[in-house]
This record gives sequence, structure tokens and C-alpha cells, in this order.
Amino acid sequence: MSDPRPALFLDRDGTINVDTIHVSKPDNVRLIPGAAAAIARINAAGIPIIVVSNQSGIGRGLFSVEEYESVRVRIDELLAAASAQVLTTYYCPHNPEAPPACDCRKPGPAMYLEAAAAHNLDLARSWYVGDRLRDIQPARLFGGHGILVPRDTTPGGDVVAARDGFAISTNLDSAVNRILSSLPLSAPPKGG
Ligand SMILES: [Mg+2]
Ligand SMILES: [Zn+2]
Repeated sequence: MSDPRPALFLDRDGTINVDTIHVSKPDNVRLIPGAAAAIARINAAGIPIIVVSNQSGIGRGLFSVEEYESVRVRIDELLAAASAQVLTTYYCPHNPEAPPACDCRKPGPAMYLEAAAAHNLDLARSWYVGDRLRDIQPARLFGGHGILVPRDTTPGGDVVAARDGFAISTNLDSAVNRILSSLPLSAPPKGG
């Protein structure tokens, strides 16, 4: 097998699409301006994108797995219309207020470990990007790079992130700039 590749682990609600608390109706899905173009730039760089999303609305009984799936399909369609794509999406359906606690709800490790095993990814060289601190905390766990893209409504997250030494970008496009500029330059030709 070839060497594991770094990936971009990307939050969904509030990072790719506008967060309306529990996004459960495909007709209501709106991409955040610039998000699709930013994702397309990562596609062009050949970095796989894995969406990781906490969807506790399922466990809370607010919407069904089928409704969740219809929203996922809609987001993929909107991205495709802008020539952008994600490799795959993982989600945690559990209600954090109904014990026992699962190990997939972010910042838990399970979705990342599952994706790494399924797609031969190197978690220690991957990027972890989202609008909440829990989206970027796995970078600390796995040894990768966390970039917070906070919204106005992100509760203190940017302050905490800064204190913890995480990177902060004002939008996904800026985060992508940071990712692409950190890539190793291709090796110069040898000999002469
Ligand atoms: Mg979010
Ligand atoms: Zn879970």
C-alpha cells in the first residue's frame, strides 16, 4: 500500500453551509459564500476532504437519518455545481445528553480513525478546520494542524483557540491559503 496521505477534515454546518442550528431540510441548505471555491482549491491540490459532522438532532429525535441524508446529498449537489467535491462524509448521530457518551461526537476520535483506516490517511499530517473549537481539537490529539474559522456566534471559541495556540482564519478561503502555503514545495530536479 502507498504511504498514508494527509487530508482536510472539514466541519459542515457553519463551515461549508449556513448553520441554522439543526439543518434538516434540503431546500433550506445555503452554502457559505466562498466555501465551494475554497473546497475546489483543495481539490486542485489533490488533498482529500473528509467532512465530519456532529448531528445530534438525529439522536434527539428532531430529524431522521433519511432527512440527514437528503441534506448531505443537497450539499454535495451544490458543491458539484461549483466544481467542488468532498471525498466522503462521516457523522455522529448521538445525543450527548443521553449517556453513555459515544466516542464519535467531536472532538472524539472515532470518525477520524475510521476515515484514516478506510482511506489510508495520515492523521498526524492532516488539517482540522471548522467554526468550533471541537472541530480543531483533534489536531492536538493526532498531531496535525487545527485552523478555527469562527463565526460571530462562535462562543468564545476564537479566544480559547488563540490561547491554546491554534491558528485562526477569518474564512475558509483564508484557511485554504494557510494550508496550501504550508505544503512542501516539490523537490527541485537533481543533477545538472
Ligand atoms: Mg460547525
Ligand atoms: Zn457519536
